[in-house]
Amino acid sequence: MVTGILKETGTEKRVAMLPGEVAALKKLGVDILTESNAGENAYASNEEYKNAGAEIVSRKELFEKSSLIISVDHIPESDLKNCREGQVLCSMLNPAENAEWLEKARVQKLTVLALDIIPRTTRAQSMDILSSMATVSGYKAVLHAASLSPRFFPMFMSAAGTIKPSRVLILGAGVAGLQAIAVARKLGAVVEVFDVRSAVKEEVKSLGGKFIEVEGAKEDAAAGGYAVEQSEDFRKRQQDLIQQRAAASDVVIATAQIPGKKAPILILKDTVKRMKPGSVIIDLAASTGGNCELTEDGKVLVIDGVTIVGKSDYPSDMPSDASKMFGSNIINLMKILVDKEGNLVLNMEDEIINGTTAVYGGEYISQRLKQLLNIK
Ligand code: NAD
Repeated sequence: MVTGILKETGTEKRVAMLPGEVAALKKLGVDILTESNAGENAYASNEEYKNAGAEIVSRKELFEKSSLIISVDHIPESDLKNCREGQVLCSMLNPAENAEWLEKARVQKLTVLALDIIPRTTRAQSMDILSSMATVSGYKAVLHAASLSPRFFPMFMSAAGTIKPSRVLILGAGVAGLQAIAVARKLGAVVEVFDVRSAVKEEVKSLGGKFIEVEGAKEDAAAGGYAVEQSEDFRKRQQDLIQQRAAASDVVIATAQIPGKKAPILILKDTVKRMKPGSVIIDLAASTGGNCELTEDGKVLVIDGVTIVGKSDYPSDMPSDASKMFGSNIINLMKILVDKEGNLVLNMEDEIINGTTAVYGGEYISQRLKQLLNIK
């Protein structure tokens, strides 16, 4: 089977697989093509890909010769015409935003593996690209906040007196939030954390954060460990408590999301007004509307002296390690997609393959995707 590694378009700096992982993929008996300069923004040269065993080709040739095409983002619509029936595309999809693109791929009878809907089971953990990218985002968000903040993160006792540590408030303790707690603590900040899932309380504590609980959160076992939307009364009480804690904080890292839904608004305009001038809010939920009422995706705003960063593409700012993690996750997925002779075998009985397949043979497959897109 021939696998093609595509060069990303637009501002994306990552590549779906670096040369180090290409060498590991070769061991599965797969032939690999790489679009010329695919890795240039992630500091990987054509030469390195060649040395790892890949053949460098043009984009046109890659579409013609590959059975499986891997990329970070789904291919642009203009490339769909270069695909043929049965060809397999494997990338992130963000299905809620790209339903029309997916419908076109379905009509063309392409197979689309959407890496962001991989079931979040223990067996699929090593393939979980969302976790890998959330780890990068949580880490980078804290470093970005620290560089924008006019205050030290750690406590300093110097001849010039004592400087108090920064107070960091983290909203949402999923993968990104937990990483943010760990990095903020390593930098010496005092960390407080909100989440609606009581299951994370112990993890937050073990990382050195203080978990602030709002009584009466709705939890749903059927949501598979994900958060669910909260009642109006809960939201109001939570917003009030967040307002108090945000006013005492120097930095807020907002990561709260509900899969397939708009992000919950946790920081109101009035809360921003009450924050100290010089404070920083990093809103990682920006692409789904943001946790702060004032966030604008892709923008840095300064309102009432508070810097509000709406940013959802931190992984692209760390293209080396983000691409390394991305490629490793894909290899782990390929281990269940490829037989001993290196042929692609899509066994729809396998819950991971079934759960990751968005469309196949002109049909929508993944149950979760169908729920997200309201497809019967
Ligand atoms: P996410 O990005 O969907 O959400 C981030 C966090 O925001 C979550 O912790 C969520 O509870 C929280 N949140 C939502 N609404 C909130 C609100 N109103 N106030 C405060 N916090 C709110 O989360 P994620 O990182 O994708 O993780 C979601 C779940 O998936 C977790 O249970 C995690 O352990 C699990 N998970 C499992 C695997 C696996 O087994 N393969 C991998 C990764 C994550």
